[in-house]
Amino acid sequence: MKSQFVTIASHEFRTPLGTILSSASLIGRYSKTEEEDKRQKHVQRIKSAVTNLTEILNDFLSIGKLEEGRVQSIPVEVNLPEFCKGLIEEIKGLCKDDQQIHFQYNGKSDVWLDKQLLRNVLFNLLSNAIKYSEAGKSIFLRIAAGDKLVSIEIEDQGIGIPETDQAHIFDRFFRAHNAGNVQGTGLGLNIVQNYIDLMKGEVSFSSKVGQGTTFHINLPNYLPIQTKD
Ligand code: ADP
Repeated sequence: MKSQFVTIASHEFRTPLGTILSSASLIGRYSKTEEEDKRQKHVQRIKSAVTNLTEILNDFLSIGKLEEGRVQSIPVEVNLPEFCKGLIEEIKGLCKDDQQIHFQYNGKSDVWLDKQLLRNVLFNLLSNAIKYSEAGKSIFLRIAAGDKLVSIEIEDQGIGIPETDQAHIFDRFFRAHNAGNVQGTGLGLNIVQNYIDLMKGEVSFSSKVGQGTTFHINLPNYLPIQTKD
């Protein structure tokens, strides 16, 4: 795991660090007031590159914690539509030009879920939907929340996952052969699967190369049993 980290980190850190360096140098050169647009474009690039680096580090930390058995699901009451809107605001910065996340919500607003685990699951799946689809394509986040079950769907119109790779998609470090030079470590979906198991939920997907991918998640809307000390 550690030697894999060194290999992947050396490789995957290079691109975002290169982006940060070149954007910072360009910002330094745009000194005129009318160059504000260009400055903002490069500020945005720096922000995405830093988010990307943070993601890679977070993924490694999450895997480490999972291996040590230090992650558990602790459901709390959460206003799910508000929670998702906040997350979408945060993730918008990663979107390509004209890529939009459409959010549809049905059912109960207040549900019982572990916020940290859910946040990670949605962040990983939405950032994959963004990474593996082109500018201009839509992404859908659909949620239906009932008394017992929360169903989540994340759909993209991206490159899709080749059929021969589909069986391995949740394996640690696995990347499909059409991932090309899209940045990634192959850890995200392994973490998603582990977190969903901890939440006693289920995850599946359907995908067609060149058409897109949809991830389906079912999570129990779990009200913790009150115990006496
Ligand atoms: P990565 O860091 O490589 O994105 P993940 O574990 O999140 O790692 O995903 C594993 C692999 O599954 C990716 O490398 C990619 O080949 C494929 N994949 C995941 N999500 C999608 C998607 N929405 N569309 C197409 N391919 C995907």
